[in-house]
Amino acid sequence: MESRFAVDGMLGSLARKLRIYGFDTLYDTSLDDDQLIRLAHTRQLILLTSDKELFARALRAGIQSILLTEENDARRLVTIFRTLKVSSGNIDAEKSRCASCNGELSTINRSDLKVSLPDTVLKRHEQFYLCKNCSKVYWKGGHWRRLESLGREVSKSLEQT
Ligand SMILES: [Zn+2]
Repeated sequence: MESRFAVDGMLGSLARKLRIYGFDTLYDTSLDDDQLIRLAHTRQLILLTSDKELFARALRAGIQSILLTEENDARRLVTIFRTLKVSSGNIDAEKSRCASCNGELSTINRSDLKVSLPDTVLKRHEQFYLCKNCSKVYWKGGHWRRLESLGREVSKSLEQT
């Protein structure tokens, strides 16, 4: 089964990246540690945290948890993927979830867009991704290219064992 995550409040940018990878990822800064532990337990999520105390609590509660002490998301992703034996760090847009709300995305053609986007974006892109939950629209712009290069960097690190 595909891994699902609960991410602690300190790791927001990592949570967004995991969603873009397509992992079902709970990230909600309004949750305190007790609520996070409870949700991880009932929903059988893997808890990702850089807080040693929270990590220890999760293990005591029988929750699978990964302690992340790396200083950037690329290295954190390498640690997560190594632990879970995910062999590739490449990102597949067809699997991506909404970075802001974790909703599923559907592909949508330019002509079907119901929101107005800058002309430069509309000129350059034919295909868009629409969040089924919050209606946010995504496209493969500069941000996407940076994500792809992050994915390649993660893949490369995974190959070097
Ligand atoms: Zn959304």
